[in-house]
Parts: sequence; C-alpha cells; structure tokens
Amino acid sequence: MYNLHSHSLLSDGVLLPSEVAVRYLSAGYKVIAITDHADYSNIDLVINAILEFTNHWPKDSRIKVFPGIELTHLPLEQFKPLAKYARRKGIKIIIGHGETLVEPVIKGTNRAALEADIDILAHPGLISDAEVKLAKKKGIFLEITSRKGHRDTNPHVVEQALKLNARLILNTDSHLPEDIIPVQDLLKIASGAGLSQKEIDNIYQDVKGFLRERGGVMKKGILVPVFLCSCVLVLCSCAGISKKDTVPKEEALLEPQAALKFNDIPAPSGFKFLPEDSYTFESAGVRVGILKYQGRANVEQVVNFYKDQMPLYNWNLLNLVEYGERLLNFEREQETCIVNLSPKGRNITITVSLGPKSVIRPKKSDKPVK
Ligand SMILES: [Zn+2]
Ligand SMILES: [Zn+2]
Repeated sequence: MYNLHSHSLLSDGVLLPSEVAVRYLSAGYKVIAITDHADYSNIDLVINAILEFTNHWPKDSRIKVFPGIELTHLPLEQFKPLAKYARRKGIKIIIGHGETLVEPVIKGTNRAALEADIDILAHPGLISDAEVKLAKKKGIFLEITSRKGHRDTNPHVVEQALKLNARLILNTDSHLPEDIIPVQDLLKIASGAGLSQKEIDNIYQDVKGFLRERGGVMKKGILVPVFLCSCVLVLCSCAGISKKDTVPKEEALLEPQAALKFNDIPAPSGFKFLPEDSYTFESAGVRVGILKYQGRANVEQVVNFYKDQMPLYNWNLLNLVEYGERLLNFEREQETCIVNLSPKGRNITITVSLGPKSVIRPKKSDKPVK
C-alpha cells in the first residue's frame, strides 16, 4: 500500500519527515512520498532537505520513502521550469497542485501543470475533457484524495478518468497526524467516489508498476552525493551500477565483534580476521593500517552494520559508493577510514583502510554530522 502525497514541516505539515514515515508505517503503508509545497522561494530548501532525508533513510526499512515535491499556486509559466529543475535534482515524485474548488487556485493551473514534467495532478477539481485527455496522453495520474474539501470533486474526477481512460491514483495529502488514515479508510474513500473493487485493484497494479520504474532509476550511480574528499580515494569516478531495485528483505542486524585490532573500528561478529592480509602501524599518534575480514552475510547487512556502528565511535559517513562492490568513506577529525565490501554471493571480504587525513584539509568541517 502506498501514499504518494504527504506534507511535513518542510512546508505546512506539522511532523518531521521521519515521523511522517513512521506513522504511515504503523497505519499499514509500505511506500510513501513526502511532497512538500514549493515555489521559487523555497524549492532548493525543500529539495535539499528531502533528499538529505531520503538518502539517509535506512535502505532496509519496512517503509520506502520517495523524495517528492508539490508545485503549488505557481504563476502558470513557472510549472515547466520548476518541474524540470526538481527532476534534474533527483526528485522522484512531482505533483502539480490542481484546481481544487476550496482554494483560489489560478485558472489554467491544471493545464499548465499537465504540460510540465509532473507525475500527479492533485485534486484537479472540475477537470475538463481536454485536460483529462492531456493527462492520459502524458501518463500523468489524476488524484482521488481523502483530504477534506478537495475530496468533494472525487466523483467527477473518477467519472472523467474512467470515461477517457486516464490514470488514477489514491492519496491522502496528509498534513496532520490525523490525516494519516488507515489503508482501509482510504479504500472507502475510493469506493465512495464511484470506483469498483476491480477498478481499485487496477489502480494499485498501475501505481506499483510506476513505482518500480521510479525505484529502478533511483539506485543507479552514487547513492549519496560525494562530498569533496581530498583523501586517498578517487574511486568516485566509477559510477554506473545496475542493481535491480528490490525493496531489500528484512534481515537480522549484525553484532560487533568483541576483540578488535583497533578498538574504535568495529567489525561484524562471525567475520574472520585475516592477519596475513592485514597490517597496522602506529607511531606518534598516527595510525595507518589495512584490516581484512572474511565472512558470510548479505552485503546490505554489512553496509548497515558499518552505517550504524561507525558513528558510535564518532566516524562520520561522507559517502557511499556502489559499483558492484560497496565503498563506505568515513572520516573523523584527523583520520579517514574506508570500508570496502567485496561480495561474491554471500561471501564477503571486508577491507578497512585507515590513515591520517591529508594535511591541507582544515581540522574542522562545518558540514553537519552525516
Ligand atoms: Zn498544504
Ligand atoms: Zn498537497
């Protein structure tokens, strides 16, 4: 179950994105998009914040969160450039705030939004035949909403979409905790708007396919933007992985080992230390070393292990690169630590490289802790 239209305190919602996600999970949803209102004044703030959030949301969480945006009350000519901008920045779900009857939306908004690169036209009010045809031609979803006021024209939208064979989607458009309604209530809204069970099923199948496409695009290349990094690693140029985007299965968390070579660099228990392939050197407070481990696990489990454990020793994750292998790049005041995971099926070789930071780097970065 999905909901691809929700607001957080990044615009006029009241909850942090993480609370939005957690509340949807507990209401029975598996996939959501957080789509805060934006115009020229705040589009960068909203995009950067939501991407920062979704990039850090655990990949193995039971709810997947897509970064989205809702282009709202724009002068008509701004829909195209802002949709294009959001898409280029990596926003996956772009909503146009349609001509609901309960707000003074500029006349012509439905059409201007449909002509832009949007995915969903929200609460399109008394949408015309010509607009529905344009939505159909471009594969844009018309929204059936549970939001009070906006939902009054649901029956009209359903009738138009069925008549002209356009795509429909069910969304909550939540702003407050009480708007995050259980899945069953959203389905009731859909049937109340005139959709049969079969038609609702078709909508779900269609949206599922759409999300698969969006998810597939999402995992290509580098997952987290690469921060400038003067250190050892310039592997960043090897982008282009082609992993299928399956929502990772839930797996047990790995535990850290008790005995460690460096007591501030954890290794997952069950992994064997390979002394032959490792070396360490420590002098006058400078540490250099390569530590190798081998063991069996799912590679995502090991990625999550390092993401969870390293911050406990004040290591900040700078970036995560996927190119078949996984590369996690951590740093601390004086040192960098690179964790390379090389999987062969479930056999994984971990190579941890530790070294001092290059001298030109300023001691303290004013970047927030990743
Ligand atoms: Zn709003
Ligand atoms: Zn909205």
